[in-house]
Amino acid sequence: MCKEARLPAIRILPESLANRIAAGEVIERPAAAVKELVENALDAGARRISVSLAEGGIAAIEVADDGAGIAAEELALAVQRHATSKLANDDLVRIATLGFRGEALPSIGAAARLAITSRPRQAACAATIRVEGGQISPLEPAAGPPGTRVLITDFFFAIPARRKFLKHPRTEADHAEAVVRRLALAAPSVAFHLEEDGRTLFDLPAQDPPTRVAALLGPDAASSLIPLSAARGAMRLTGFAGPPALTRGTAAGQFMVVNGRPVADPVLKVGIRVAYRPVIAEGRHPVAALYLTLPAEDVDVNVHPAKLELRFRDPAAVRSLVIGTLSQALSGAIGSGAVPLPTRPPLSLRPLPSALAGSAPAGFAEPALPLGGLPAARVVTAAAPDAMPSSEHPLGAAVAQLFDTYIVAVTGEEELVLVDQHAAHERLTHEKLRVQHLEGGVRSQPLLLPQVVDLPERDAARLVAYAETLASLGLVLEPFGPGAVLVRALPAALGTPEPAPIIRDLADELAESGEETALATRLDAVLARMACHGSVRAGRRLSQPEMDALLREMEATPRAATCSHGRPTFLKLSKADLERFFSRR
Ligand code: ADP
Ligand code: MG
Repeated sequence: MCKEARLPAIRILPESLANRIAAGEVIERPAAAVKELVENALDAGARRISVSLAEGGIAAIEVADDGAGIAAEELALAVQRHATSKLANDDLVRIATLGFRGEALPSIGAAARLAITSRPRQAACAATIRVEGGQISPLEPAAGPPGTRVLITDFFFAIPARRKFLKHPRTEADHAEAVVRRLALAAPSVAFHLEEDGRTLFDLPAQDPPTRVAALLGPDAASSLIPLSAARGAMRLTGFAGPPALTRGTAAGQFMVVNGRPVADPVLKVGIRVAYRPVIAEGRHPVAALYLTLPAEDVDVNVHPAKLELRFRDPAAVRSLVIGTLSQALSGAIGSGAVPLPTRPPLSLRPLPSALAGSAPAGFAEPALPLGGLPAARVVTAAAPDAMPSSEHPLGAAVAQLFDTYIVAVTGEEELVLVDQHAAHERLTHEKLRVQHLEGGVRSQPLLLPQVVDLPERDAARLVAYAETLASLGLVLEPFGPGAVLVRALPAALGTPEPAPIIRDLADELAESGEETALATRLDAVLARMACHGSVRAGRRLSQPEMDALLREMEATPRAATCSHGRPTFLKLSKADLERFFSRR
């Protein structure tokens, strides 16, 4: 054997350094610490958990529970790395608790200032242990009720490099609230209290699952959720599906719980997406709360530091249970009429009212022979409409509306044009809003009656925080107590839509885009959302002048070939295309 001289020696890292490295993985932001502490409380059998945050958790996080507590002589052990009471028989295959790695408390103690005060139910008094930047102080006697109270202050004070990556307290608070919300959905029988800077965000008593889901998903969801229940082998899926009419701009309304653990697992996400794909618009996200239980040995939770993703032994079976159950619930809903899905009219061309005949462009013949039982269709002359030279009017003249959704037009070059009326109008509205905004402010139109819109408190607060910016976009609102805003005006270009869906969508948009996104991009996203609501919907019957006006406006508008989401707004088939299709060439 030969010797290599200058290789660095391999060494085992000191405990304190290992803890700081683990802290970076397990506790990447205050919300992650909140998650670990609440999970510990649930593992300890708490019936009531209260969480309070100061400055988004950066200044302080306190989690108090009435669970089993930690014996004074074990407190020093609890803050050691890889110390856990939860893997009694070294069994990584059947994990029944939320925690099991024994990493959270030492990681938090390495990154911040940690104080744990605990009293087991049968003990006469409590004890406190402190860990600050990895330094453990001796136990102190303390007073307190049975249970455990954990206080974290000065997040990441000991890891300045990490501290720089923390976002604005409001963003950190949003993440922390989302975490508590998910855990509260996962454990409905436990009472949850959440407060932030002294303000109560929610205070939920022990509840049955439907009540808890309704309380957390908001009033618009609560009344329309479709209950689910299905089993396959040892797997059981329960929960609630939102109807297709209830969609959100983001996936923030989707909750997945596997064996009591809130997850964001791709197998389940794909299942939801596939089941809803046929019934909701692309780019929209359904609302759903899924609870899956299966034998612990059929799922590995030990694949992701935050345990958000799982490894199912049979992912295909899980996916098919989710898709099958949701699809059935959704189709049942259509049959029962519980869901206001637009019903598809039979394939037919709708004749234009004859009152419009006078306004028809040159080239239209007088029409409309009823074809024995079939709906009459407006007939177009073989000659091109001369008044519509296609150089000037590449989208031609409207000749019919299909399914109250598509405009059929014909150009002077013998081309057939199909226009998706909603997609097209959405783009026109978006561009109109964009131009007004660039020119110094979107024109707004006061509502005849200012309208109150109820929404989760955090969303209301966020909208109010953006009130000035929204006003420059034509949307005037003000606070209306906690959990509501008063809408006074909307952009004039939107016409007269219902304010509530717009407001809820904007709240989602603002929550989603966060401060990470450039302001200009965020404002444009807000304009796009508003445009969507202010536009002619699929399903609205248009008169011929309305259709022609839309075509002319499209021709005059930049980017009109795609809607704000990038989908095409129209389709053009030349006479040659048709001839090829019918093998005439
Ligand atoms: P893990 O949860 O993976 O076991 P932690 O570092 O989160 O690791 O906690 C270490 C141990 O401290 C736990 O196994 C548990 O015995 C004890 N513990 C932590 N928090 C609580 C609590 N709120 N109530 C009772 N025991 C707790
Ligand atoms: Mg834990």
